[in-house]
Amino acid sequence: METLGDVAKHCYQFTESYLNLPERSSVIIETKNAIRLTRSYFIQDIFSKWSPLNGEISFSYNGGKDCQVLLLLYLSCLWEYFVCHAQNSQYDRKYHRFPMTKLPTVFIDLEETFSTLEEFIVSTSTRYHLSLYENQREHGITMPVAFERFLQLYPETKAIVIGIRHTDPYGEYLKPIQPTDSNWPDFIRLQPLLHWKLTNIWSFLLYSGEPISGLYGVGFTSIGSINSTMPNPHLKESNIVSRESMFEWEIKHSFQGSQSPNVSPLSSEDQKLLDSFEDRYLPGWYLTDDSLERDGRIKK
Ligand code: FAD
Repeated sequence: METLGDVAKHCYQFTESYLNLPERSSVIIETKNAIRLTRSYFIQDIFSKWSPLNGEISFSYNGGKDCQVLLLLYLSCLWEYFVCHAQNSQYDRKYHRFPMTKLPTVFIDLEETFSTLEEFIVSTSTRYHLSLYENQREHGITMPVAFERFLQLYPETKAIVIGIRHTDPYGEYLKPIQPTDSNWPDFIRLQPLLHWKLTNIWSFLLYSGEPISGLYGVGFTSIGSINSTMPNPHLKESNIVSRESMFEWEIKHSFQGSQSPNVSPLSSEDQKLLDSFEDRYLPGWYLTDDSLERDGRIKK
């Protein structure tokens, strides 16, 4: 898609399309409600306090499925915000241009990760027109220090969007809008995805037909550093009795009509790594129990 406006409009269209799906499963009904709540946080609570157009809001992006879903919804809401402003304007619509060309985003590179994920971050930065700040990886640097440096370079940032959910570690008591803790640099955390469950994430993402990191296609469900992440053991093909995915309908009827998940290619190094494992794994979206999502993370 050529411009940020084009991709924002596209995200708006498949989000609307999802909201108009027949309510054929409880997951679809629940996901529609989850989308509506996230959208109301963005449009009513967030965009009324911080402008999405002038760098006050930045987006934290690491190529994972959660922040990707939130990014798609953020873009969809940006389109809605733009259209709403254009409609209220005294000038004819033909004089209105989408007011941004790039979306301010930040990726903190702390530890070595999979090259498939690194390539996915690069390709989605192009697809979604991200202006991605990425720090130089440095031994021992922490997230708060890395964000401190980001803020020194972009002091106009007042708030950062984070794709965290209540089921993530330490996520239970977070709020959709809250300041950072005292040991972090001072800004507002925007966390409008907290109420989403794993099933909501997969239902929406697979329906959207948007590219998904190839690691999810080979059994990963939560991706950290290369030394601390494995495919999820609950997806070992040898242990699986039923091969029914809960999201067959979303895949078959996806907005872009591809009828199969749009997974990014695996890098040759990651393919080699996977070939060295004894087991094969079903795709990440076969796991729908939030409490098992991080079981591929190796505790150090
Ligand atoms: P994931 O599920 O992978 O991450 C959850 C979300 O965090 C992602 O969707 C993405 O939006 C963001 N994120 C994670 N890793 C990166 C990365 N490397 N680069 C860019 N974005 C990333 N913890 C506190 O205790 N107090 C705080 O005040 C606090 N403020 C934070 C502010 C920001 C902007 C971020 C990104 C994190 C903050 N955290 C804070 C940490 C946060 O609560 C999570 O612990 C952390 O994001 C990792 O989450 P996770 O392990 O569930 O990983």
